Amino acid sequence: MEEQGNQDKKKKTAENMNVLDSTQTVIKKALDKLGYPKEVYELMKEPMRLLTVRIPVKMDDGSTKVFTGYRAQHNDAIGPTKGGVRFHPNVTEQEVKALSIWMSLKAGIVDLPYGGGKGGIICDPRNMSFHELERLSRGYVRAISQIVGPTKDIPAPDVFTNSQIMAWMLDEYSRIREFDSPGFITGKPVVLGGSHGRESATAKGVTICIREAAKKKGIDLKDARIAIQGFGNAGSFLAKFMHDAGAKVVGVADAYGALYDSDGLDIDYLLDRRDSFGTVTNLFKDRLSNDELLEIDCDILVPAAIENQITEKNADLIKAGIVVEAANGPTTLQATKILSDNGVLLVPDVLASSGGVTVSYFEWVQNNQGYYWTEEEVENKLEQVMVQAFDNIYRLAHGRRIDMRLAAYMIGVRKMAEASRFRGWI
Ligand code: GLU
Repeated sequence: MEEQGNQDKKKKTAENMNVLDSTQTVIKKALDKLGYPKEVYELMKEPMRLLTVRIPVKMDDGSTKVFTGYRAQHNDAIGPTKGGVRFHPNVTEQEVKALSIWMSLKAGIVDLPYGGGKGGIICDPRNMSFHELERLSRGYVRAISQIVGPTKDIPAPDVFTNSQIMAWMLDEYSRIREFDSPGFITGKPVVLGGSHGRESATAKGVTICIREAAKKKGIDLKDARIAIQGFGNAGSFLAKFMHDAGAKVVGVADAYGALYDSDGLDIDYLLDRRDSFGTVTNLFKDRLSNDELLEIDCDILVPAAIENQITEKNADLIKAGIVVEAANGPTTLQATKILSDNGVLLVPDVLASSGGVTVSYFEWVQNNQGYYWTEEEVENKLEQVMVQAFDNIYRLAHGRRIDMRLAAYMIGVRKMAEASRFRGWI
């Protein structure tokens, strides 16, 4: 009975943390506040298209393993859909759907001519060889090739995928289509038409949000203590940018634990020692748990890993005055409320992490033009876009006395709702 009770409790918590449910709840609130009829919500609450694929891959030992993958396209009223592909053992259909909706919101917030898309493959790339990963990446592209393309749906990197994987995917797509098509995918190596500044773009966007949020709270970045959960693409570049800006990075965490030093960690050393999946804490004996990192004494906390990290269980224990979400969906809805009741300034994922897709858009524009920009040009343009997006959302939140997540959703969904109406869909 006790066991059953515990299981029910577990189930309930899992339900509470269902990312699709919580996204739909906020989308509904945002559309209600904007005064749209319920048909608009009916259209927006799920992706318009979801493809599930089975991908057979020849493994190095001669066996064949069949992987499951997804591609979700939320809404293409504004333009082609856009968003990354993640390789992770915990990928689910529901998560990919929610992630595609978040991509629509990001595109709306930074005003890109895209709808949202997202892909995922259930796999653990940490246990796969280079060649197995190549075959998986190519197999995925063959499986989804009918519904993607530079004017249909444009993939990009996400959790545990990188520019090498984008290069294999591009090559496979070009073979299928029989012409070179660099605008099919973004986050490519620069030699294959990638953009300068794309790799660090998510972290640059987060850095700009941290700077703007710190200004609002009257915190000088030079005196700020910052903790970062996640040492992957976003987390590691962010640690470097914060360190370079003179802030003290007092804590970092990866999937296996956390490091803490109230005097500031040696970031250059950690960056040097991390592996390509962002693992570094296993090199140290003296570690905190990942949960403990979230609760350490600091001014700015950046969850830069995965979903559902700040929940109703630990939200009250968070000491940071500013939380900037570099990951997608790290804070549950209940926790969002607790944090804002406690006066924490929460910069939501759909704003804070939109630097990546912004520079992906710049990459696609450069591919379409066949004319390439310098890193400085990319960074100046990103700066302008992010500052404007932060300002729009902060002002709306302040003016309407709502949290920044709801304000971000209102701005993120508005253009898509309008475009869907003009097209006569609703
Ligand atoms: N995967 C990134 C994100 O979640 C980037 C997507 C893109 O560049 O299209 O925003």
